[in-house]
Amino acid sequence: MNKKIIINNNLDYQKFLKKLNFYKYMYLTDYNIENNIKKKELDIIIKALSIKKRKERIAYLYDEGAKYIDKYYSEDLCQFKYNKCFLQRKRNDGSKFGCCRYCKYVISNKGCPTSNISCKMIYCKEALKNIKKLKLSDIDFFKCFSIFQRIILKIDYCSTREQVINDLYYGPIYWLIRSIKKGIDVQIKSSKIKKGIE
Ligand code: SF4
Ligand code: SF4
Repeated sequence: MNKKIIINNNLDYQKFLKKLNFYKYMYLTDYNIENNIKKKELDIIIKALSIKKRKERIAYLYDEGAKYIDKYYSEDLCQFKYNKCFLQRKRNDGSKFGCCRYCKYVISNKGCPTSNISCKMIYCKEALKNIKKLKLSDIDFFKCFSIFQRIILKIDYCSTREQVINDLYYGPIYWLIRSIKKGIDVQIKSSKIKKGIE
């Protein structure tokens, strides 16, 4: 039999969020959750709880998170021109590609070819001069992720969307091995930049 949870106001919603740890370990149980406050984040949690395949659920939450962050930072905070952010143009020190300069995925004149939540959350304080920094904990539906997954979402820079989803799915050992390889790639790119090869 379906269990019914009715959310009629913000207090119900906050109580529901507090119990989310319990609900998310009950993915296989059928819940009928009624969202009477028309909150988009709650709709996302309800849909995530209904996705039984773990990897699909992770990908869904990941993509919704990326959309949420893009919407929050809708303004062009880094103001790239000719591959340089506004700070690099101001410093005029020859560096380019902003915070992406050591990443092997960045594409000249196009920027990032993928969707990386860790990178989307990182801005220097000059870029954040007129906007409050968004924290992962501000995104309610990220509470559907485990603590370890939320740590990965914070620090998995220089990785493609698919790689991050795999890290979230396969867990700590997989992530650690991949991070070592990624660290080597970053070192290689950084020494090429120092030698003026890139
Ligand atoms: S966050 Fe700051 S340093 Fe990084 S690309 Fe944007 S303006 Fe440049
Ligand atoms: S993955 Fe991150 S560091 Fe690499 S290009 Fe994209 S935003 Fe930049």
